[in-house]
Amino acid sequence: MKIQLKHRPDLPTQGELNKISNLVILLPERASTAPWPAFPFKETIKNRLKQNDYKLNSKTTMCADLPNETGTRLSLSSVGPDLSTFELLRLARRHADIHLAQNPRHVTIIMPGVRQRALRHRAAEALLSAFLGGAAPMPSCKSKPGAGKRLRSLTCHGLDERFDFRRVEAECAGNALARELTALPPNRLTPLMYRQRIRKLCREQGWKMRFLNHKALEKLNAGAFLAVAQGSPERDAGMVCVSYTPTRGKNRKPLTLVGKGICYDTGGVNLKPARHMHGMHEDMQGSAVALGALLALSRMKVPFPVHCWLALAQNHIGPRAYKQNDVVTACNGTTIEVMHTDAEGRMVLADTLALAARDKPALMIDYATLTGACIYALSTRYSGAFTNQAHYIQPLIEAGRASGERVWPFPLDGDFEEALESKIADIKQCTLDGEADHILAARFLQRFAGKAPWIHIDLSAGNHKGGLAHIPTDYTGFGVRLTLNLLLDQKIME
Ligand SMILES: [Zn+2]
Repeated sequence: MKIQLKHRPDLPTQGELNKISNLVILLPERASTAPWPAFPFKETIKNRLKQNDYKLNSKTTMCADLPNETGTRLSLSSVGPDLSTFELLRLARRHADIHLAQNPRHVTIIMPGVRQRALRHRAAEALLSAFLGGAAPMPSCKSKPGAGKRLRSLTCHGLDERFDFRRVEAECAGNALARELTALPPNRLTPLMYRQRIRKLCREQGWKMRFLNHKALEKLNAGAFLAVAQGSPERDAGMVCVSYTPTRGKNRKPLTLVGKGICYDTGGVNLKPARHMHGMHEDMQGSAVALGALLALSRMKVPFPVHCWLALAQNHIGPRAYKQNDVVTACNGTTIEVMHTDAEGRMVLADTLALAARDKPALMIDYATLTGACIYALSTRYSGAFTNQAHYIQPLIEAGRASGERVWPFPLDGDFEEALESKIADIKQCTLDGEADHILAARFLQRFAGKAPWIHIDLSAGNHKGGLAHIPTDYTGFGVRLTLNLLLDQKIME
């Protein structure tokens, strides 16, 4: 169900306000000491603050009901220009939580006295994203489903025509798609079901789809991918390539997005213990983020082609499953000594990156829930960023800061690869001691990305307990906002 986003330049009148069920108020910082701007019910709210000895700032959010006939539920904070996007998104989520708990049809946002246009627009972007993120329906398998989400419109006062509603909608739709797919239980999103879902999306969005099945991958000598896929009793694994072609700019070099889509990761022969296997249906989140980013970019009608390569498989145990000490050959001829069957992500990505790079993309970005080492290094608040282009490092940090999906870069110096020297093959898949595994994984992948300008995002922030920034679910869909910022604001492809 579509939620309408509207804007009005002026404040609502007292009469209009009396009919509003849910109201968000943002005031400028220091409004508690400075004279307050005029707006309806100002004195009532001021008294309420005083009675409760309430300090108005960006860290807290007051919740109250107005003494009018509707009993308007209001939430109130103050905002200042120094707030980071991450903090703004967190603030926005507190407001969204207050109102969405009432399941309203309509929410109104006002920002009286917030004079800087840039701050008004940033705050509105954060609030609309938090409401859309909180209202997005997520999968539920309860036999008695709860009440559906009723939110139909959001009106933001104090914006002008230059506010980009399309961007907000595109990012939120991309994030919601990524999260919805990630949340699906593993028996409801097998590689086959995933592919059917993607086919439906392609029909809706006008994208082209190609599928490389086992047979096609055998012909291409994609031995690293197939090593992982061969453990599954069903032969439903494969690579999906979805393409968006713009009406203008179709001859430009493409942007290529690559995603790890392990629909279930048991760890393989090196089986995970229960505590670590729980939640491993989320090991396909990289592919879901790639698809979400594609959806957002195609809704933004970006003027360059986008290819999205998804490595869909499961990592199973079984008589045919690959094992330690196996040596397999990837499609670029590299021989790989298998060290640990739970490092399957880099195996499927190796062949996927190598095949995707054959399109000679202007930029290739891959997303993967790849290593525990990245979580140890950064926690689940940040994701790790790696690139073979030194001049991307600053824009990556800036895109993380500006989008609120924060990333931090890691080194990729050549001597790291000494740890991956193999006596029998060209390279080891990983080491068994695990030191700097996130860096070794990226070094390993770099061999397959070849000469393409390449960014690798290790999604350590793919699952953060209690949600992250404006996102209320544990699974975050992290990466869609970051990607749009990299391309549309940092203009990294230009
Ligand atoms: Zn694994």
